Amino acid sequence: MIRRHVCFTAECSTPGCEPFDEYTPHFDTEEEAIEKLTCEWGWRFRGKTGLCASHAAVRECEQTGHEWSSGYTDPSTGVREEYCGRCHAASRLLATT
Ligand SMILES: [Zn+2]
Ligand SMILES: [Zn+2]
Ligand SMILES: [Zn+2]
Repeated sequence: MIRRHVCFTAECSTPGCEPFDEYTPHFDTEEEAIEKLTCEWGWRFRGKTGLCASHAAVRECEQTGHEWSSGYTDPSTGVREEYCGRCHAASRLLATT
């Protein structure tokens, strides 16, 4: 038999973002899409906007600051490089001596 298939997929509200690499999840209802994407994919929804996990992390860092995790310290210069463990998009250099 032939039947119409209605489903919901998600788009990140960030222009140009392609949040799904190989597999795009399809959902039967909008509610299911929001619930599953939030719980299992790390998305954040607010009103009509939805952000994929990486852009949700970037937004979170913009609002609350980065979550620095200490990285490699160069023993000759004493300079430590730290990375943000949340958005993975920021790094900073710190003098430790
Ligand atoms: Zn579908
Ligand atoms: Zn995105
Ligand atoms: Zn960050």
